[in-house]
Amino acid sequence: MTTLFTVDDQAPSRSRIRICVECDLVSDVPPLAAGERSRCPRCGHRLATRMFTPIDHTLAYAIAAVIMLALSLSFSFISFSSTGVEQSMHLVDAITVTLEQRYGFLSFCFLVGVLALPFVYLMLVIYLHVSLALDHRPPGGVYIARSLSRMQPWVMADIFIVGVLVSLVKIMSLATISFGPAFWAFCIFSLLLLTTTQSVDRDWLFKRMCGPILTPEPEPGRGALTQGFTSCHACGQPGQVDDHGKGRCQRCGEALHARTKRSVQLTMALVVTSIILYIPSMALPVMVITQFGHPEPQTIIGGVLLLLAHGDYPVALVIFFASVMVPVAKVMALSWLCWKTRRPEPFRPGPRMKLYRLTEFIGRWSMIDVFVVTVLAAMVQLGNLMNIVPGHGVVAFGLVVVLTMIAAMCFDPRLLWDATDLQQTGQRHVAPRTARLSPAPPSSRQEVTR
Ligand SMILES: [Zn+2]
Ligand SMILES: [Zn+2]
Repeated sequence: MTTLFTVDDQAPSRSRIRICVECDLVSDVPPLAAGERSRCPRCGHRLATRMFTPIDHTLAYAIAAVIMLALSLSFSFISFSSTGVEQSMHLVDAITVTLEQRYGFLSFCFLVGVLALPFVYLMLVIYLHVSLALDHRPPGGVYIARSLSRMQPWVMADIFIVGVLVSLVKIMSLATISFGPAFWAFCIFSLLLLTTTQSVDRDWLFKRMCGPILTPEPEPGRGALTQGFTSCHACGQPGQVDDHGKGRCQRCGEALHARTKRSVQLTMALVVTSIILYIPSMALPVMVITQFGHPEPQTIIGGVLLLLAHGDYPVALVIFFASVMVPVAKVMALSWLCWKTRRPEPFRPGPRMKLYRLTEFIGRWSMIDVFVVTVLAAMVQLGNLMNIVPGHGVVAFGLVVVLTMIAAMCFDPRLLWDATDLQQTGQRHVAPRTARLSPAPPSSRQEVTR
């Protein structure tokens, strides 16, 4: 099938029903003009955004980002000299050196999060938008559009840049550093990548490829599941679910789940594993620094104390906060949220929602320390004069970060709002019911922000 549906970029979008994926409230989103966005009135989650010229901007950012990535792989990234010995590092050295040191986990994190996944993401965005600009429906386009939002949290070029800056502060007192052209190209690349991810108009993509879908819609102003509906996480289309809370999106074909299956059990299993791994991640050295033949293992806490001793207070605080405090805070927050889903209180889901969002947002920034070790191990290879190799602690720490990220993704925030919906409907438990087909009352329309 090669049919495309016409979407006028400048005309206001039509009014439509949306279900918030974070609190499950059904809202009637009013027509949006270009540049406007609509938020959920209950939890503030962004329901819909209308971009200016969705093809032109996104395509320009994505192509420029790919060019910058190619440039950053072609030139020297950082030059490093100490006592007359100079060494220059290319980005690919972060993969080859850590592989030689038998730390494949670090190579994998760097390759996937910093190079491969951003590149694949950009190429898929370019493929989709070029095809649509040429009025051609791309083969596999719907599947690709569904995959884009799943890839986004694992794209970590911005975190890598912060990791590079922190690692430079760590060795600034030991050596002279100079930035190569690849460093500046990579900074521009990470900015363009961020802009591309923000400018992809998911609604527009699905409308263009799948067109409007005329299906029964839930009543605005109430919880979706109490009416037998849920939102498609991939394309945002409301869809009906059966008595087991399952269904399939009529627009993009994604499997629908009214609530994430075994959300609390999965989250807690990952949280407990993270707690176990957190102990070796703090106790074992994350790297071994050899200076003039004397190896000196360094733990995360040891690194923070060393930075404090050198007077680098801001960087010491960043590392302490990102590597020590954030994993602990995240584990505590997720455990508390899981516990609260078992003891629902209908009047206080708002603050819990904010805690969940904060947990989800800050979690990936703990990867800073993993990238710091990767960069230092790739850069500082001057034999017995000065040499840095990773320690086992960094693998345990990296696993803590990845597992807590997956734990936050497994947690279904809609569970926090179920008690509120039950109180509104007077039901004893949340269960799908037959859908109603009633028009939206004017009072349920959402405010639009520019
Ligand atoms: Zn909401
Ligand atoms: Zn869908």
